[in-house]
Amino acid sequence: MDQTRSLSPIRAEVDTTAITANIRRCGELAGGAAVMGVVKAGGYGHGALTAARAALEGGAALLGLAQPVEAIALKRELPHAEVLAWLLTPDTDLDAAVAAELTLGVAAPWALDAVEAAAERSGRTVRVHLEVDTGMCRAGVAPEEWPAVVARARRAEEAGTLRVEGIFSHLACADEPGHPATDAQRERFEAALADATEAGLRPRWRHLANSAAVATRPDLAYDLVRPGLMTYGISPVPDQHDAAALGLRPALRWEAQLSTVRRVPAGSGVSYGHTHVVPTDRWLGVVPLGYGDGVPRSASDRAQVAVHTSTGTLLAHVAGRVCMDQFVVDLGPAAQGTAPAAAGDRVTLVGDPVRGEPGVEDWAAWTDTISYEVVTRIGPRVPRTGPGGAPLDGRGTRRAAG
Ligand SMILES: *Cc1c(COP(=O)(O)O)cnc(C)c1O
Repeated sequence: MDQTRSLSPIRAEVDTTAITANIRRCGELAGGAAVMGVVKAGGYGHGALTAARAALEGGAALLGLAQPVEAIALKRELPHAEVLAWLLTPDTDLDAAVAAELTLGVAAPWALDAVEAAAERSGRTVRVHLEVDTGMCRAGVAPEEWPAVVARARRAEEAGTLRVEGIFSHLACADEPGHPATDAQRERFEAALADATEAGLRPRWRHLANSAAVATRPDLAYDLVRPGLMTYGISPVPDQHDAAALGLRPALRWEAQLSTVRRVPAGSGVSYGHTHVVPTDRWLGVVPLGYGDGVPRSASDRAQVAVHTSTGTLLAHVAGRVCMDQFVVDLGPAAQGTAPAAAGDRVTLVGDPVRGEPGVEDWAAWTDTISYEVVTRIGPRVPRTGPGGAPLDGRGTRRAAG
C-alpha cells in the first residue's frame, strides 16, 4: 500500500458501509427481489473491487459489469462471486472469459454462436443471460430474431455447452416516471419470456429494472434488479426524490484542501479568459483539482464547494474557468481584513447534501449532465480511500480491478 497517496488531502473517500446499506435498501424497494450490484466503469468511479466487496456484504446475488476485461479482473479477486459481463464484441477473448468462469450476457445471434464455440473449446458449460431488446434499440437480441435465439439456446443447453441462467432487458425511459415506453417494454419483455418458456428455457433470473425502475416501479422487479447508480447512494430520479428520501446514503466524498487564500482588488479578472471579474475586493481560494481530475470544465463559474474553516463551513462559488489542475473559488468580500478561510482548509466538492454539502446530483445539475457522468469521470489522479483517508479494505488504492 502506498501511504503517501492514501493520506493525500486530495482524495475520493468511499464509505463501503453506505454501499452495503444501499444494496440492502434496493432489495427492500424491490419487494425482496435479489439484487445485482452493478460495478462497471470502476464501480461508477468508486473502485470496482471496493464496490463489489461492499455489495456482496449487502447480500448482492450477482455482480454486473459491461466489459469482460473488467469482469475478469474482478473475478480474479473474488473467485466465488457470480460475475456477469454483458458487453461482448466479435473480437472479445471469450476463451479468457470462459476460463475465468464469467457468466456472459448474450445480446446478439452472433454472440450465441461465439459463446457456444468457446464453451465447446473449453469443454465447460457456460452460464449465460440472454438479453432481449424490448425497445431501447441498443443492446439485446432484436424481437424478430428472439424466437430463433431462444430455440438455439435451448439446443445448446441440451448439448451441455450453455446454461441459460438469466433473461434480461434494459429500460430506456425509467427515469421519467409515467413514460409510456416503460410499460411497452414490460409487455415486450413478458412476450419474450413466454417465447423462452415455450422453447423450454427455465431461467432462474428474469431481470429488467435499473436504478430508476427500482426507485419508481417495484412492479418491474421480477427475480432480480440491477441498480448501478443507487448502489452508490445517488438518486436516479433527482427531480422526484433525493437520495435521502429513497433511503440511500451517498458513498462518495470528494475532498481537497485549499492550496492558497489571497485577497484581490475589485476589477481583477480570475483564471483563463477572465470570464469572472470580481465586483468588489474579494478573498479567493485555490482548489488543487481540475478537469484533469474529472472536475467538469462546464462547472466554470457555476458549481459550489463547501469550505470547512476554523469557524464553520461556507459554500463558495467557482470563480472563473476550471483549469486542468486547479480552480478558484470566491470566499467572500474583503471589506474586513480577516480572511474567511486559510490555506490548508478542507474543501468538499462532493459530500452529503443532508449536511448542507454539494451532492453528485448538484454537480450534474450545474454542469448540464447526469450524476453517472460526474462520478465516472473522477480521474486516476484522485486516490480512492476509505473515510478520513483511511486505506480501503486494508488494501490501499489498488488499481487492478479499478
Ligand atoms: C449500467 C447498467 C445498469 C445499471 O444502470 P443504473 O441506471 O445505474 O441503475 C443496469 N443494466 C445494464 C444493462 C446497464 O448497462
